[in-house]
Amino acid sequence: MAAAAPRRLEGKVAVVTGASSGIGEAIALALAAEGASVALGARRADKLAGVVAKIVAGGGKAIAVPTDVVVRAQVKALVEAAEAQLGPVDILVNNAGVMYFTLMKNCHEDEWERTVDVNTKGVLNGIGAVLPQMLERKVGHIISTSSDAGRRVFPSLAVYCASKTFVEVLSEGLRRECVGTGIRVTTIQPGDVRATELIMSNTDGEAAAKMGVEIGKPVGEGFNEYQLLNVEDVAGAVIYAATAPKHVAINEVLIEPRDQE
Ligand code: NDP
Repeated sequence: MAAAAPRRLEGKVAVVTGASSGIGEAIALALAAEGASVALGARRADKLAGVVAKIVAGGGKAIAVPTDVVVRAQVKALVEAAEAQLGPVDILVNNAGVMYFTLMKNCHEDEWERTVDVNTKGVLNGIGAVLPQMLERKVGHIISTSSDAGRRVFPSLAVYCASKTFVEVLSEGLRRECVGTGIRVTTIQPGDVRATELIMSNTDGEAAAKMGVEIGKPVGEGFNEYQLLNVEDVAGAVIYAATAPKHVAINEVLIEPRDQE
């Protein structure tokens, strides 16, 4: 029988926000499969408990800390729980995010505000919660699930694209500032991903229709296998960045389905 592949993140501690579904759940499972202990943050405690149960059933170690990333004190509490129960945090994955198709003319201002709050302030709250300790330890990796929408602007997504551009610029600024400190900074820029919950609470039917999406249905129907990524593909990109040799910085990973235009 062939020997099992060595687990490349054995002994590491990771914090993943937005780990209760979709891409974040897949990232948490992949980090745990590589041997990392994982602290999971998101608002839905029941969903987080389900992900923890999967990790524990696979022989891994994980804790769930119900967290709203918009509330700075809650993100600090997530990191403090990870430090207390698992150890110093080596990897933060800022993955929590929302996406609303909205046409600017339809003025869905609550959705605009939510997008800015979760996608930009949430990432800042994550960075603020881990950066001092990482600087002190001279090691750490801050990874954010950005989007290909952080590199180009899509119709019906002006506010979302702006929020992901913020993540790109912020991460590049952080990376440059951290050169020589031992800290690595990575953005993962996925294209369209199959069947996550991302668009399930959208309300601007006109904006969604322009993008060929139906309100209340996850992305999937009508796409072939070359037009969508699976959540595991994105998790694989995180593992690629997190397991790079110590002298290598994977600063950005643009990962899109082969046949996405
Ligand atoms: P999901 O909706 O399945 O996951 C979003 C996650 O974010 C959930 O775990 C949700 O948990 C969490 N979340 C939302 N708001 C908050 C909040 N205020 N505080 C804490 N957690 C929050 O969608 P995806 O998996 O698709 O999205 C994950 C990330 O990937 C997002 O940043 C998204 O922008 C990005 N992305 C997705 C793409 C796609 O095609 N699906 C493409 C490119 C990027 P809860 O509700 O329990 O709080």
